Amino acid sequence: MPARPDVIVVGAGIAGASTACHLARAGLGVLLLEAEQPAYGASGRNPGFLFLLGKAKGLALEVSLAGRAFQQGLGDAVGDFGFRPTGMLAFVRDERALPLLAAFAAQRRADGLAVELLSREETLRREPALDPAIAGSLWSAGEAHQDTRLLVRRLVAAAETAGAAARMPAKVASLRVAGGRCHGVTLADGTALEAGAVVLANGLDGARLLAPLGLIAPLTATRYQAAETAAAPFRLSALLSGPSLFLHLPLLAALPGYDRACFTDPAIALAPGMTYTHQIAQYPDGRIQFGCACESGRAEAVATAAGQAPALATLPRDLPGSGALALERSWAGVVAQAPDYLPILDLKPGVAGLVLNIGHAFGNLIGAMSGQIVAAGLAGGAPLFDPAPFALRRFS
Ligand SMILES: Cc1cc2nc3c(=O)[nH]c(=O)nc-3n(C[C@H](O)[C@H](O)[C@H](O)COP(=O)(O)OP(=O)(O)OC[C@H]3O[C@@H](n4cnc5c(N)ncnc54)[C@H](O)[C@@H]3O)c2cc1C
Repeated sequence: MPARPDVIVVGAGIAGASTACHLARAGLGVLLLEAEQPAYGASGRNPGFLFLLGKAKGLALEVSLAGRAFQQGLGDAVGDFGFRPTGMLAFVRDERALPLLAAFAAQRRADGLAVELLSREETLRREPALDPAIAGSLWSAGEAHQDTRLLVRRLVAAAETAGAAARMPAKVASLRVAGGRCHGVTLADGTALEAGAVVLANGLDGARLLAPLGLIAPLTATRYQAAETAAAPFRLSALLSGPSLFLHLPLLAALPGYDRACFTDPAIALAPGMTYTHQIAQYPDGRIQFGCACESGRAEAVATAAGQAPALATLPRDLPGSGALALERSWAGVVAQAPDYLPILDLKPGVAGLVLNIGHAFGNLIGAMSGQIVAAGLAGGAPLFDPAPFALRRFS
């Protein structure tokens, strides 16, 4: 690695690791800086859902589908990371929800997604481990699962194989800017590092580094909590979501006849300011990850009793065979969310030599492709998706 790399990438989550990998493969000299270790942030703390069902037709759905397709082929380029096109069963417990879900499925099919309503019997035939007391489900065929921690490790390894250098732990304290140009970073230990360009891929902390430059990234910290059991003796064939998921879908809530009561789960007591996404995923080795309680405005990655309570109250009921499984881990992760839930990808945010790849709320879908987009912009290739709608100036 030359003393002055072409590009410094800050942050080794899915966005930064992919950016470093694609830049190095394009022939640029890359230095990847990470404050802790690869996938230390949200990328190492999520249950691996590639979640399409709630994406609105238009930009959000188009970029999500492009990201999913990119990731489906990425294993060939960087090595297997557990990508599986599992589909998702989103079940409900209240029969009154079924007519509304039928209308929602029809709407989503019109938007191009393969979604259908399943009866209780059809749902249980597909997923015999589920609680027989459910009322039915939506089957969304396009959803997929991956091991995002493994993907980040694969991307960092691929970046290094292509010639990138990685330095960690190395926390960036500030950006070095002179004459309207970003020419490097200063680390927390005072080390100054020079580069031709700097890509911020450090989530919420990116907003902190931008603020002294007068660039305001409107990112909100949202804390999500999840937990993991030991390997289960049964196999789930698909991703699962419970009724609470349907409280988070504005497209569904906009349908005539929507009634929150049909999706309100009496087993769940939420602390003030908390919501719950009700996701369950089984990894290839049998372990089950489940969650997620969410709290907007919480930036501490600390798991709490109140945040773990909804998941613990529902998993043994939803999967009756899971109640005796050892609970191996519980954790929290912080996600940087923009008001429109879309990332900030910006090759020209107003300071030359500075590039933004932050604000990934659904990084499992778009995070890896964002690295290709940024690398194409810096190295002169063709981006897989036009980054223009994701510029920082959309908020001004
Ligand atoms: C419990 C949970 C459930 C989730 N569920 C889903 C889901 O179902 N689907 C989905 O798509 N997404 C989901 N997410 C969100 C997803 O994890 C994120 O969108 C994605 O991981 C963001 O990736 P990133 O690379 O932008 O950020 P991160 O993975 O947070 O990476 C940023 C990295 O930058 C490093 N860093 C920070 N500051 C500095 C600095 N100053 N210097 C150097 N390095 C720094 C951090 O240590 C970190 O490693 C979930 C997240 C959580 C926590």
